[in-house]
Amino acid sequence: MINNMISEANHLSGQEIGLCYHCHKCAAGCPVVGAMEYGPDRLLRMVALDQRDAVLRSRDIWLCAGCYTCATRCPNDIDISAVMDALRQLAVTEGYPAGERDALLFHKLFLGVVQRLGRSHEAAMLGLFKILSRVPIYRDIDSGVALIRRGKVPILPEKSGAAPEVQQIFRRSK
Ligand code: SF4
Ligand code: SF4
Repeated sequence: MINNMISEANHLSGQEIGLCYHCHKCAAGCPVVGAMEYGPDRLLRMVALDQRDAVLRSRDIWLCAGCYTCATRCPNDIDISAVMDALRQLAVTEGYPAGERDALLFHKLFLGVVQRLGRSHEAAMLGLFKILSRVPIYRDIDSGVALIRRGKVPILPEKSGAAPEVQQIFRRSK
């Protein structure tokens, strides 16, 4: 039986957290570290120290954008985004509330859209998010309109030809 947090997180993420020597390069490049409570390198240390409750309650695991910047900077090739995925999985499994308001809703909507279309569709996802999270629908509307005008965000969703394969991945993951 796996009986400490670092073993569990290593097992779920496929990473070797013990290799971290806290050089801080990941945190220095993380685009959302300013909004985090601890930052990626401190969070890894907390996992190693078995500070389970603080880690699983932390909003950092929900703020991670999965951008892989940390992984590309790490001298020990630790993919922290995979560790963050594992920590979110543990938090949800153990019934911890998401440390960031509506983060779980956002993740569910993103996965729901990808499952249905075989790809992401930002306009659909953000429209649904605003309605369900009760964020004022007109907040940020200017940025959205500008992105649509520049052709960066299509208004109508388009199903990917790979949607059946993507749906099969979702079925298998369950
Ligand atoms: S860059 Fe790698 S070794 Fe350095 S603190 Fe981050 S995870 Fe640890
Ligand atoms: S993957 Fe997450 S922790 Fe790593 S740099 Fe990006 S946002 Fe930060």
